[in-house]
Amino acid sequence: MGISFSVLSSGSTGNATIVRNEDTTLLIDAGLSARRIDELLKEREMMGEEIDGILITHEHSDHIRGLGAVARKYNLPIYANEKTWEAMTKSLGKIAEENRIVLESHEVKDFGTLRVEPFEISHDAAAPVGYCFYDGDEKLGVATDLGYVSDKVKKALDGSDVLVLEANHDIEMLRMGRYPWNTKRRILGDMGHLSNISAGDALSELLTGDTKRTYLAHLSLDHNMMELARMTVRDTMEDRGCFFKDSEFKLCDTYYDRPTPWDKVSE
Ligand SMILES: [Zn+2]
Ligand SMILES: [Zn+2]
Repeated sequence: MGISFSVLSSGSTGNATIVRNEDTTLLIDAGLSARRIDELLKEREMMGEEIDGILITHEHSDHIRGLGAVARKYNLPIYANEKTWEAMTKSLGKIAEENRIVLESHEVKDFGTLRVEPFEISHDAAAPVGYCFYDGDEKLGVATDLGYVSDKVKKALDGSDVLVLEANHDIEMLRMGRYPWNTKRRILGDMGHLSNISAGDALSELLTGDTKRTYLAHLSLDHNMMELARMTVRDTMEDRGCFFKDSEFKLCDTYYDRPTPWDKVSE
């Protein structure tokens, strides 16, 4: 069966992604209410009971809003590094001791035949991470909420068949927008969010013959548009000498209000 996944919801209103293979189903982040996550799972013909565990990227509320409730409802183990646990514990409510599991940023963990490798990213949270998933020779890389793509991140994502990568904002839209200057500076900074251009830059380096698709994720509702994100990423890549024409590489959308279709990494 290999790895398949659906980005259930993506953006500052709430993030959650399902990654599964034949023996394991994992939820990455639970940044929407438990009820909303149930609805999104249902749209993908799934039930919460099928989930084996929840991986957390960082403690911002758009990633953990429903975490306590979902973990209690389905009695699920939560995996996060020590610093993230410290930062989020208060906002979760009661979590059973056996469901509080520390997975450090350099640790590799096998969930049945699904291998998970966290990697450090740069963002204004306690110890934020992205994740790579492996099954046989398939690889899925997921990185959102990062100020820039460090060499470490490039190395981690290298060789992914499919990527989920942040394309948060259009720099001009953000500059002209209504946010206070401090907030703009935070978003634009190294500990903030990845712009469309930075995403295109990173992809032009990351793209190997292996990479078939990239999902653009965590788009800002105020300072980005799907069409613009795709166009800017594509133009930036072409400026850097990456041409799409004859390649099978595709840019795909994610949504804040509906899940992406199931995607099989091998296809
Ligand atoms: Zn976020
Ligand atoms: Zn964040």
